Amino acid sequence: MLAESIPADRDLPPFARATRDGYAVRSADLAKLPARLEVIGEIRAGADPAATAFELKPGQAVEIMTGAPVPPSADAVVMVEYTRLSPVAPGVPARRSPRSGETVVDATHVGPDVSSGQSPRSGEAVEILRSASPGENIVPAGSEARAGACVLARGERLDASRVAVAASVGRNHLSVTRRPHVAILATGDELVEVAATPGPTQIRNSNTYSLAAQVEAAECIPMLLPIAPDEPAALGRLIAEGLAADLLLLAGGVSMGRYDLVEQALTGFEAEFFFTGALIQPGKPIVFGRARRTPGSQPTYFLGLPGNPISTMVCFDLFARPLLGALAGAAPQPLHYLQARLSADVKVKTGLTRFLPGLLEGELDQTTVRLAPWKGSGDVVGTARSNCWLVIPPDREVIPKGEMISVLPR
Ligand code: AMP
Ligand code: MG
Repeated sequence: MLAESIPADRDLPPFARATRDGYAVRSADLAKLPARLEVIGEIRAGADPAATAFELKPGQAVEIMTGAPVPPSADAVVMVEYTRLSPVAPGVPARRSPRSGETVVDATHVGPDVSSGQSPRSGEAVEILRSASPGENIVPAGSEARAGACVLARGERLDASRVAVAASVGRNHLSVTRRPHVAILATGDELVEVAATPGPTQIRNSNTYSLAAQVEAAECIPMLLPIAPDEPAALGRLIAEGLAADLLLLAGGVSMGRYDLVEQALTGFEAEFFFTGALIQPGKPIVFGRARRTPGSQPTYFLGLPGNPISTMVCFDLFARPLLGALAGAAPQPLHYLQARLSADVKVKTGLTRFLPGLLEGELDQTTVRLAPWKGSGDVVGTARSNCWLVIPPDREVIPKGEMISVLPR
């Protein structure tokens, strides 16, 4: 995340840039087609400024390459595909152009003449086959950004496009925010570590690792705590460890069961609860607030997620990811949902907004979505075969095939 704003060090682009290989022309010369223009030279990308100072007079053109500066006397660039080299003088034999496949003059006698200082191509003629409007295929100097203007703002995530901007304005060092540390605490007497052999009623702890993967994907640093038992003293000791991070993520133990002790354990750390539930499924018992590791110390945010593996994953995407962005110093961003057409009916219970594993299929405007086959919030296998969360509004019992539906990508 950027911790500073970045200004452009010069105009972008720094000169009027040709966006096509072709001919720089005066668009007024193309009123009648084909227009036959005299070629007075060539401008290559990166050419010395002295070699680009062509003064086009009516009836003249300069051959130009993509990324080369367009002389001020030209106001359009015509793509080479819409041109044809034409005989300089009657009787000069024509040849095939190596570039466009068009018939061209045998111009060997007017080739580059380095010794005389003459620009390559001068003395040839070109036929322009299509008109061009003023400004066509030219990006004016400074039109993307003016020197000194802010091109990247503090709080923006440095994705590929922003790295390109930083490089373009000469910034090989950037000041960025610290990555938040996220403590992860799975709770439950039934849990054993991944390498252990579970007893008949025990299950392996998957939440710690799925959460760690989500934390890393959110560009934060996971701190994995050992499994907390459903016992107040041991749970409290691990919560205290977790409150040393920037965010404590807990999984499990937030529901209504007699051994769901997380809320109670947090109250021992001067916890303030901002909310203790949401009208969503999965995720109804989620808790969010902040607590102090020691009395009077700086508070740390915590998020208690329900322990069913899919509930944990969904709630991370809905709550923890935006929270981590805020902790990292990002400018606030809404969650972006996509819309896709249902390829099969969806039937659910009403009352809560539901987030269910979905399968986006097809491509482009043929993209469809359907419920992934799964066996509920504990089904990690079924969920691993899905690729998004389908969002079902709370008041719809049946959503028929063909209807557009919101989808949260993941
Ligand atoms: P809880 O939210 O603690 O009531 O747990 C809900 C369900 O999720 C129970 O079936 C738990 O066994 C299961 N569960 C809780 N924590 C984990 C975990 N870390 N890994 C896998 N499953 C879990
Ligand atoms: Mg539990």
